[in-house]
Amino acid sequence: MSKINLLGFTLEQLKSEFLKTGLTDLDAKRVFPWIHVKLAQSFNSMSDVPLNVRDFLQSNYSIDRPECSTVQKSSDETQKALLKLEDGNCIETVLIPEAKRTTVCVSSQIGCPIGCKFCYTGTQKFVRNLTSSEIISQIFFWKDRFEKPITNIVFMGMGEPLLNFENLSNTIELLLDEKAHNFSRHKITVSTSGVIENEIINLARWGIKLAISLHASNDEKRSYLMPINKKYDIKTLLTAAKKYQKISRTDHITFEYLLLKDINDTDSDASELIKLLKFIRCKVNLITFNSWLGSQFIGSDGNRVQNFLSTLLSSGIRAIVRKSRGNDILAACGQLKGRSSR
Ligand code: SAH
Ligand code: SF4
Repeated sequence: MSKINLLGFTLEQLKSEFLKTGLTDLDAKRVFPWIHVKLAQSFNSMSDVPLNVRDFLQSNYSIDRPECSTVQKSSDETQKALLKLEDGNCIETVLIPEAKRTTVCVSSQIGCPIGCKFCYTGTQKFVRNLTSSEIISQIFFWKDRFEKPITNIVFMGMGEPLLNFENLSNTIELLLDEKAHNFSRHKITVSTSGVIENEIINLARWGIKLAISLHASNDEKRSYLMPINKKYDIKTLLTAAKKYQKISRTDHITFEYLLLKDINDTDSDASELIKLLKFIRCKVNLITFNSWLGSQFIGSDGNRVQNFLSTLLSSGIRAIVRKSRGNDILAACGQLKGRSSR
């Protein structure tokens, strides 16, 4: 049987796991910072943990990172890694270095069951949720190998994070924990297609940033692009967003809006969007389409994008055109597709 991987265990979880095996709370308290702060790669290096405990841990548990199949580097310094999980499935994680920050983009599922029409990941068969250890191991992977500190985390890789709520929460807890990864709540963003059976509201307690993939300003178009809209329509989504804002005390919600030529990029799309978002403290990220082989869409041309942007801005809505990174290695949003190597 494979050993239990401890990377995704909170301190409390580690204590109760240890309790089952005759280890103590003190052992857990000693081991925890070795894993998350000192980034130990073996139990043996945990010098203040008694030798017999280290041996026991070595035989029963692991803190292994996933095996790395390839790392590709884009001309803009973005890096994409294909990681092989223990069961042979693969996931992708992306590192985006910038002058003042370094962002890691994390996957939460293998494939994605939501199936948005414009998304490469959405075309892949959904396999399963990632475990907490598999989610956080992507951050360990980059921390181990990148020379600068990781400053921001975005849950914008493969999968719909809110469909893997428990493991997502566990990961967020570890990222925020001062005695573990110690990220500020302002540096973590979860992006969702709008799965709201309580998940958006439950997520709010962490106070982290929320991005909502909107991509259309009426239900007809949104349901066409994102089938999830048939279950949770725009009105329901915006009500949840407002509740999120209230509970999380975040400054604004980010709405992601992918501009697709002749689909959702007209003046009337922009005015409908303004009407929708007028009553909510938000920022709109206009995204240019990252194309992939076999996709049925074309991104809006530069003029349209600028037009759309200025219409939003002149109505008083904060908006930017988000620059795309790692396009040449298919590392940009919606281009991730882990190959199963089974
Ligand atoms: N499942 C979540 C998070 C992962 S997708 C979500 O949908 O929000 C991260 C972002 O990339 C989302 O805003 C998604 O809509 C966008 N995206 C998907 N496919 C894209 C593509 N081909 N080009 C540009 N952005 C895309
Ligand atoms: Fe899934 Fe997000 Fe892609 Fe939609 S855009 S298929 S929710 S990963």
